[in-house]
Amino acid sequence: AVVALGLAACSGSGAGSTDDSTGGSADAGDLTVGVAMPTQTSERWIADGDAVEKGLKDAGYTVDLQFAGDDIPTQQQQIDQMITKGADLLIIASIDGTALSNQLQAAADANIPVIAYDRLIRDSENVDFYVTFDNYKVGVQQATSLLVGLGVLNADGSKGDAAGPFNIELFAGSLDDNNAHFFYQGAMDTLQEYIDAGTLVVKSGQTDIEQVATLRWLQETAQKRMEDLLTSTYSDGSKVQGVLSPYDGLSRGIITALQNAGYGPTIADGLPIVTGQDAEIASVKLINDDVQFSTIFKDTRKLAEQAVISAQSFLAGEEPEANDTETYDNGVKVVPSFLLESDIVYKDNIQSLLIDSGYWTEEQVASGQ
Ligand code: BGC
Repeated sequence: AVVALGLAACSGSGAGSTDDSTGGSADAGDLTVGVAMPTQTSERWIADGDAVEKGLKDAGYTVDLQFAGDDIPTQQQQIDQMITKGADLLIIASIDGTALSNQLQAAADANIPVIAYDRLIRDSENVDFYVTFDNYKVGVQQATSLLVGLGVLNADGSKGDAAGPFNIELFAGSLDDNNAHFFYQGAMDTLQEYIDAGTLVVKSGQTDIEQVATLRWLQETAQKRMEDLLTSTYSDGSKVQGVLSPYDGLSRGIITALQNAGYGPTIADGLPIVTGQDAEIASVKLINDDVQFSTIFKDTRKLAEQAVISAQSFLAGEEPEANDTETYDNGVKVVPSFLLESDIVYKDNIQSLLIDSGYWTEEQVASGQ
């Protein structure tokens, strides 16, 4: 593999590039891109991996795609191996964003540019670029959809008829995932004024991110916490009316806990408003069936495309185009980023957002698979 292709743009020791046999004219086929994805238990990462692989192959690169089963040492090992085998660039969606400093140092020492994919890699100067969605805005959208579901806001953002007070509970993602903090911050900045006004009541009192986090984004962990909340906080006959959930897998665990406790089965029957993220097909079906209220659609096809564009720039010895150079401080540096936009999915725009765009078919929405 070709390591020295005029990668002046990448951080790290550019001076180490002495292999002039490439002359900068190697074609894409000689170049290998290592793609490290966190897990196959959530369908978005499978779709991401497939789309990045396809985009890179279409551009003529060789691709080494690995999934790590949500196991940190496995991901470290996979990246070590990509570097040893001579990868020319790495695209990484980390499991624990703080656990890859050694790998990234090895990559920098070998002049291999690193693109953080969807999740920021923290505590390392050797992150060259970041492609993601506007994660703060995703959190704002999640909270907004909760307010819409409760009737506090109308879908167009204007003030709704409902005044509450509504009992709600809050969930966040995995604390080692930088995104979880952005989602929660965006959501809480949106909900706080309603909590202060008494329109929303977090009856358990659990509002710190440490109290509401879900390690590794596990569905069963969220289900268990919802069960515990129902026992600890709602056994006095009071009802929970809304749940902020940051990811569809968690949403389904939360809904299961609620239904097992006698809520629902649908929103019309008293199931609380539950939000989500990723437009996973099982959740889109639940939204279509009036069970889950909303999700956030992040078009992973576009993210993959942006990752490929950025990779091509690096591999041509250029700096990829960023549209944000302020937001994503990883603790050591602000990583130049390309942010994409997301959309709130409600039952009435499944067709326009997800089916018309070819993300899911009507049959998939009907069957949930
Ligand atoms: C991603 C979300 C996803 C979550 C769990 C986050 O880093 O941005 O899209 O729902 O991880 O996989």
